[in-house]
Amino acid sequence: ESVLPLPPATRVLTISNQKGGVGKTTTAVNLAAALARSGAKVLVIDLDPQGNASTALGVDHRSEQKSVYEVLVADLALAEVIRPSTEHERLDCVPATIHLAGAEIELVSLVAREQRLRRALDTHLATMERAYDYVFIDCPPSLGLLTINAFVAAREVLIPIQCEYYALEGLSQLLSNIELIEKHLNPELRLSTILLTMYDSRTNLAQQVAQEVRDHFPVQTLQTIIPRSVRVSEAPSYGQSVISYDFASTGSLSYREAAAEIARRGAVTTEESN
Ligand code: ADP
Ligand code: MG
Repeated sequence: ESVLPLPPATRVLTISNQKGGVGKTTTAVNLAAALARSGAKVLVIDLDPQGNASTALGVDHRSEQKSVYEVLVADLALAEVIRPSTEHERLDCVPATIHLAGAEIELVSLVAREQRLRRALDTHLATMERAYDYVFIDCPPSLGLLTINAFVAAREVLIPIQCEYYALEGLSQLLSNIELIEKHLNPELRLSTILLTMYDSRTNLAQQVAQEVRDHFPVQTLQTIIPRSVRVSEAPSYGQSVISYDFASTGSLSYREAAAEIARRGAVTTEESN
């Protein structure tokens, strides 16, 4: 299997879009799987109370399990809740349990409520020498305190955009939230990547949406587009990424290509800024 360049330092990417069903979790799981297979050590932090990323990675997230919830509200160390995935030996997962649904409210009264994930992650990355090359944070479909914690913990935002009629609606709100976080809480945060998902090449509409996104974000939008494919939607119920479920499928191929673009771009950006 092909080997991709590793980043000079851990890259922390938040996968966010306040719309549900646009492919956030699918993107987190499949990019993570692709990068792990290509030689990187990868952690997925599931920040959605639904726990879909945990399920897809074969990690137990029943309510009695310790999860990212205890990290956020009870200062449990991240190391205590990191679990190996069934997907790949270099891919770990911090699961979410349903308790996380209450965290939006519980966090409000806590000290440094926006920084709790950042602190836990920074502590973990500082203690372990090069624990991970990539950390992906899978956000819930909202712009509440869980997503704010993800924005503060990350350096990069990756927005999956579904190629359909209302795709760009709500995007300006998401962008202004990212700007606010950058201004007040995390000056390093930037929108690094946009990935077009669930693309149906047979419709003019999908082509128009894709073009519109590229016009607005020529630098951030990946060349690779993820097609709509049944294999992609089947894989999670087998506790697998589409890459291990059906390696040769178009969904697998496109997620592997998207991962390669992200890996190569990261290397380029860093060289340029040095
Ligand atoms: P989100 O995390 O943004 O809510 P998901 O990743 O859970 O979105 O995707 C929503 C639904 O669409 C899921 O049932 C998923 O399996 C399906 N899906 C995601 N990407 C694709 C794709 N490329 N082709 C077909 N179905 C997809
Ligand atoms: Mg999701």
